[in-house]
Amino acid sequence: MSTVRTRFAPSPTGRMHVGNLRTALYAYLIAKHENGSFMLRIEDTDQERFVDGALEIIYRTLAKTGLIHDEGPDKDGGYGPYVQSERNAQGIYLNYAKQLIEQGDAYYCFCTKERLDSLKASVGEDGKEIAVYDKHCLHLSREEVEAKLAAGEPHVIRFNMPTEGNTTFHDDIYGDITVPNNELDDLILIKSDGYPTYNFANVIDDHLMGITHVVRGNEYLSSSPKYNRIYEAFGWEIPTYVHCPLITNEEHKKLSKRSGHSSYEDLTDQGFLTEAIVNYVALLGWCPEDNREIFSLEELVKEFDYHHMSKSPAVFDMTKLKWMNGEYIKAMDFDKFCDMALPFVKEAVKSDLDLKKIVQMVKTRIEVFPDIPALIDFFEEVPEYDVSMYTHKKMKTNPELSLEVLKKILPVLEDFEDYTNDALYDLLCGFAKENGYKNGQILWPIRTALSGKQMTPAGATEILEVLGKEESMKRLHAAVEKLECV
Ligand code: GLU
Repeated sequence: MSTVRTRFAPSPTGRMHVGNLRTALYAYLIAKHENGSFMLRIEDTDQERFVDGALEIIYRTLAKTGLIHDEGPDKDGGYGPYVQSERNAQGIYLNYAKQLIEQGDAYYCFCTKERLDSLKASVGEDGKEIAVYDKHCLHLSREEVEAKLAAGEPHVIRFNMPTEGNTTFHDDIYGDITVPNNELDDLILIKSDGYPTYNFANVIDDHLMGITHVVRGNEYLSSSPKYNRIYEAFGWEIPTYVHCPLITNEEHKKLSKRSGHSSYEDLTDQGFLTEAIVNYVALLGWCPEDNREIFSLEELVKEFDYHHMSKSPAVFDMTKLKWMNGEYIKAMDFDKFCDMALPFVKEAVKSDLDLKKIVQMVKTRIEVFPDIPALIDFFEEVPEYDVSMYTHKKMKTNPELSLEVLKKILPVLEDFEDYTNDALYDLLCGFAKENGYKNGQILWPIRTALSGKQMTPAGATEILEVLGKEESMKRLHAAVEKLECV
């Protein structure tokens, strides 16, 4: 078997959409699973859609996600140029289009926009609306064509589709698809601006670049029979098609920027880790036999068998991505986590506290970094809270008992010097035992008094340690005053 060669062929039109990232990832995995080559090709023939900076985004995203291409505009592998506008400047597409004209498989078309518009509206003999071009210009004589070209009349080059019979094409995921040839439009190969259409350029390039597996979104599925016709006209081998299923949001609608999952950078902006995004995106349309979910890129390369891809739409589930991100955060090396978490800690805590200890507290409790400030803001200041928070059934406590306990414990904590977690824990549990309280009846009121919250990323003694004696005493006194007012 020949070496697997796949390509990622983005158009530089903006941020990297999740669907594009998934296509890039699958193309990469399909190649690497077989020790093949993964190529980057820039499809910039639609000059109107070109967006400044989009090329940088493509390179940056591939580099960050680890989808390293073996060949591309910046890495010549002997199949270049890898940018379609450069290929066009070399006349590659026009030459092949002319070859098809010679063979009778393509022809010049001079129809004006008005004529084409009027065609769309017309109704055929059988009463059906005509959606395909009527081959008007196919019937021009050679002399007529020469004269129009010499006069500089605007024109395109169209493929001459057969009008009878069927075309069947095979996709490895979707199976065999058959369409009647009279439904295949005479595709434009070369546009009036001299650039090839995607339809033509993808066939020419995939062939010339030796692509064995064409991996792309399923929006191209319905056009693939037409591409096969072009391959056949040239007598070229048709590649293996792997069309990837649609990705929708939780409401089964198109992914949108508003819901925050449209592009890779939208996701990183929201604090998702690249590794988690790549892992999650891999599961949008593919599932290993054992339903395992956590995979590094290397593990994906090993496990990814594209025959297990699905054809039904994949739902992008933010809740699941968040969960997965949390798993990656938990497994993260502490120093790396610290570097990434500190800016978020500093957002909430401006006071001179041991921020590293706070970072430690949140590591197992967040799903994304932006969760941090709301978890720890009480270190800066106790928020407004209601005394009903002192009630806790399981801890067997309430505001009255809390007041009693806090008043008793204040002088004990005042006299204590060793504000470290273990020492404080021993002190408070010892106090509970001696005075006939349950541990929770001591710890719950203290934690509430210090944080004003029912949920904190750490227990009472850890919070005491981070706040230190002075600030802790201040907060405990304030809590007693608050409870006395009830
Ligand atoms: N340039 C096309 C796009 O960005 C690529 C389609 C393909 O992979 O063939 O959608």
